[in-house]
Amino acid sequence: MKTLIKNGTLITASDTFSADILIEDEMISRIGLNLEENPDHLVDAKGKLVMPGGIDPHVHLDLPMFGTVSSDDHYTGHKAAAFGGTTTAMDFTVLENEGFAHSLDLWMQKAEKAAIDYSFHMNLTRFNEQIAKEIPSLMKMGIQTLKVFTAYNGRLRIDDGGIFKALQIAKENGMLMMVHCENGDVIETLTGQALAAGHKTPEWHALTRPAWGAVEATLRMAAMAEQADSPVYIVHMNAGGEVDMIKYARERGVKVMGETCPQYLFFTIDHLRRPDGAKWICSPPMRSVSDNVRLWEGLSEGILQTVGTDHCPFFFDGTRSIVYEGSAIGIPGKELGKDDFTKIPNGLPGIQDRMPILWTYGVRAGHITPNQFVAYMSTNAAKIFGLYPRKGALIPGADADIVIWDPEKKVKYGARMSHQRTDYSLYEGWELTGYPEKVFLRGKLIVDGDEWKGKRGDGKFLKRNAGEIL
Ligand SMILES: [Zn+2]
Repeated sequence: MKTLIKNGTLITASDTFSADILIEDEMISRIGLNLEENPDHLVDAKGKLVMPGGIDPHVHLDLPMFGTVSSDDHYTGHKAAAFGGTTTAMDFTVLENEGFAHSLDLWMQKAEKAAIDYSFHMNLTRFNEQIAKEIPSLMKMGIQTLKVFTAYNGRLRIDDGGIFKALQIAKENGMLMMVHCENGDVIETLTGQALAAGHKTPEWHALTRPAWGAVEATLRMAAMAEQADSPVYIVHMNAGGEVDMIKYARERGVKVMGETCPQYLFFTIDHLRRPDGAKWICSPPMRSVSDNVRLWEGLSEGILQTVGTDHCPFFFDGTRSIVYEGSAIGIPGKELGKDDFTKIPNGLPGIQDRMPILWTYGVRAGHITPNQFVAYMSTNAAKIFGLYPRKGALIPGADADIVIWDPEKKVKYGARMSHQRTDYSLYEGWELTGYPEKVFLRGKLIVDGDEWKGKRGDGKFLKRNAGEIL
């Protein structure tokens, strides 16, 4: 089957140019001016932008937490992603006691309903000799990334010695370590003190997780990466000081890369002080306006490499149901912690919001160029996570994951137009100019305006190779 996209303006991570794109079956077969073909489908993209489908390197679908579960699964979350222009999502596999293969199997089962392409990072939340021996087997399973935590003492954290040894093993096997950077010891101490003093409101979630802990842990991980001569990727950077730290390290040749998320560019601890502050609870927490500003500079100056979402939605009030695809659904959510911030499920929605919000408030606001937008939304993640040029590229031979973007479409954004399976949007009432119009997954039209044409099970597991260090 042939689809011809005519008259569009192509935007890649490096160039902007007019060209037609011919899709044959699942792949891009030709790109050029005035392509003459007799396609099965002709799409006129005059006045529209044509970009590679987004890649969200950081999502948590169907993740058990605090006695409930994140409210999007690998179908609903993928559908929402697609409506926002994203065609690949990377989730994190919980490490079960039975080891890597068993853990991966469980997540592969959850993802049988996938509606866009996907892969997994492996959480490395235990470390011992047996685990160390098994790490190289992950590459054969197509898992190129390990995720570690410097917080969540006694639950997810492994100590610095374990992280260092894992970095050495990662290097030997062409793997990449991803790190959640905060100071677990300080957080445990401050949280205990806050609860003892009777501080239970959402703002204390931020006050007990200081920005300096994130800054210090980021420099610590960069230093360990240098000492192990192994690359490291800092997830969800939230503090301006973290940008300074990776700038410092990168200028000295350390192979450290950074991801931020939209929420850290727009919101502050003041949002946690609102009556509905629980909506903004995620870890790491919201910081300050000066942190927002420095993170934007990190993107505009190219100090950071990607924008993920850390999409991990919960209902604000899971006792009340919403209608999703014609059925009522309510899932216990933020109300679980209405009397105690430590019991509020950590996480928020964003998988659909990422590209539309960053287009209007990043590109149109002048923080980043359209080419940087494509780099941060897609191409850089494809390179870092071993999917390039199959994903993240508009070139012959690449998967035809394509977004046709209407740069002039005006939208009043919010939960009403969100396909994220939760009862709120962080961006309620925000005015957008520019929105995805058509989204193709491997040549198949899955979003056409407001219409969903995708399907459960259409998403493919992507085996990943060693990536690039950007
Ligand atoms: Zn996360």
